[in-house]
Amino acid sequence: MTETIQQTDRPVDQPVEVSVSDLTVVYRTDLGELPAVSRASIDLVPGQITGLVGESGSGKSTLALAMLNAVPSPGRISSGSITVTGLGDVTKLAGRKLRHARGGTLGYVFQASQNSLNPLKTIGKQLLDLGRAHDVRDLRALVRRAAQLISEVGLDPDRVLDSYQHELSGGMRQRIGIVLALVLNARVLILDEPTTALDVLSQAAVLDIVRRVHRDSGLTTLIVTHDLGVVSEIADRLVVMYGGPNPEEGPATAVLHEPSHPYTRALIGAMARIVGDISAARVLPGRPPDLTTVPRQGCVFRDRCPLAMPVCAEEEPELVQWTPGRRRACHVEPTGVLS
Ligand code: ATP
Ligand code: SF4
Repeated sequence: MTETIQQTDRPVDQPVEVSVSDLTVVYRTDLGELPAVSRASIDLVPGQITGLVGESGSGKSTLALAMLNAVPSPGRISSGSITVTGLGDVTKLAGRKLRHARGGTLGYVFQASQNSLNPLKTIGKQLLDLGRAHDVRDLRALVRRAAQLISEVGLDPDRVLDSYQHELSGGMRQRIGIVLALVLNARVLILDEPTTALDVLSQAAVLDIVRRVHRDSGLTTLIVTHDLGVVSEIADRLVVMYGGPNPEEGPATAVLHEPSHPYTRALIGAMARIVGDISAARVLPGRPPDLTTVPRQGCVFRDRCPLAMPVCAEEEPELVQWTPGRRRACHVEPTGVLS
């Protein structure tokens, strides 16, 4: 029987939906506060794996951290809301409530989590620290739950709990990151670049585990990645990011095979292995998005867009539904010009 660790009022099996609405996150710089995420809106649906993709600098990690209200200084959420079932607006949470939301409902696996464990403590000791930080009363039950999860991700619980991080491979540490994210019964799993820095076999194993725990536990999952190959393998839905409002979102297969936004097309064009034709690969034109260079008026992608028109410099396109289940933000009509 699956053991659960109760530390919130939410029923442990309740499906959890996350709704990010009009969210702006800024960082303080020498040029003042500049937005890394601007008016982003994303819904994470229970039972679905959403892939959040974009180039380096497009604000993916910042948005993912904002979902836990954990944007590090000198950053801050300046406007918008993040509504989570059972928690309300996470941007309004603080103190004990926020600490319990992180881990208790929202599980996070950090970018390069292979290196984010404490090198001076065994995994078992770090597990107990986590339990105490979250006011878990029954630490023995927590250890039993962790052992069960460690088995589920294909590792030996006794060995793992007694190990220091340097005694585990990168792929094993990534699996431990997933275990620690879920051990307090989180219903939302957010993974930031879960396969980066892993060899191909470990990548495949980690994706297989994510797919399995997502399905078996009925989670709401977000995978943040710059690798379209990863999302093509695992994601149900795809959200594309580029600093400003999301250029495009929709069912993963539809977006990957029939991208509607010029940026999505350029991103996919730069990754030939999605379509399997290496000779068709094209370098993405221009520089990746950067806090200081992304246009603040009009369309954020206009300096790199082959279809840019005068209106693109003046007016920011709205994110609108153009066909059932798909939304895009572009002044060019989706049919005809982009076909
Ligand atoms: P990557 O995959 O490289 O992490 P990303 O899409 O996750 O990229 P973010 O890491 O969220 O993007 O960064 C978005 C923007 O915010 C970038 O321009 C980055 O330089 C800037 N940024 C991130 N962290 C800070 C910080 N602590 N201070 C100032 N600017 C920051
Ligand atoms: Fe290109 Fe204009 Fe569409 Fe932006 S709004 S993607 S600049 S055509």
